[in-house]
Amino acid sequence: MKVIRSKVIGFCFGVSNTVAKADECIALARESGLPCYSIGELIHNKDMVRHYNELGMVCVKGSEGIEPGVALVRAHGIPDRDRRGYEKRGFRIVDSTCPIVAKGAQTIRKAAQKGIKTMIVGVKGHAETIGLQGVEASEGKVVDSIMVYGLEDAERLVQEGSPAADEPIVVVVQTTFPVNVFERIKKVLKGHFTAIRFSNSPCGATQIRKKAALELARQTDAVVVVGGRNSENTKGLARTVEDTGKPVYCIENASDLDKGLCSELSTYRCVGICSGSSTPTNIIREVEEVLERL
Ligand code: SF4
Repeated sequence: MKVIRSKVIGFCFGVSNTVAKADECIALARESGLPCYSIGELIHNKDMVRHYNELGMVCVKGSEGIEPGVALVRAHGIPDRDRRGYEKRGFRIVDSTCPIVAKGAQTIRKAAQKGIKTMIVGVKGHAETIGLQGVEASEGKVVDSIMVYGLEDAERLVQEGSPAADEPIVVVVQTTFPVNVFERIKKVLKGHFTAIRFSNSPCGATQIRKKAALELARQTDAVVVVGGRNSENTKGLARTVEDTGKPVYCIENASDLDKGLCSELSTYRCVGICSGSSTPTNIIREVEEVLERL
């Protein structure tokens, strides 16, 4: 079977940075004889999480009840209050918040300091959205952003007439929010709020992967998407390919290619491989090797 790789594959720069900082974190913890933590799952890839866990990095959700050590803030960032909580308890923070995510947080902070209303468009419960919701204008003063989780929320705001249509609003969107939904939300909001400003768009790294996946779908009979099941950008890639009508197979690594799946895939003449931005290239290579043997 012919196997074609997407032109854009592997880590985005934000995830590469987090992985590099994870190494730094482990080295620092070893040097100083302290425990090593990641605040939340390091990246949306269970193999990488396991690998770093074996190196001594423990995933934690909060600073309470654990021995202070070296703690990594992953690419999604964390709420300001949580960061302070770790620092106050004596943790050493290694910050790998993606600069694009940090810029969104900074936009919210600055707008709030000037008294401008802020709005966050994001997936409910996603770590980045939670981090943006937890931005403080000054210590302890959380910015009360208007939350938009989907088109219905935007429509509801328009119907309710609050905030007023001419009130200045600054909007920040979660970097991996689905672009097509964001564009629809934007249209609804722009049609009503006259002084609204959209400070960013979903991340370009995600967009170029989607574009490459579309090209791949055109060239192949089916596409295998390799990535974490809880990764928004991996799910987005799968949806993008699905929309073309080509069969899509989502797997996390080569061990998901069991007998049944391999026999189904072997019926295709040509299969494409694309990956979410948290998938390491060694996992992609392993998947590729299995498919090439079919
Ligand atoms: S997808 Fe974009 S915003 Fe998110 S970590 Fe990667 S580069 Fe940063």
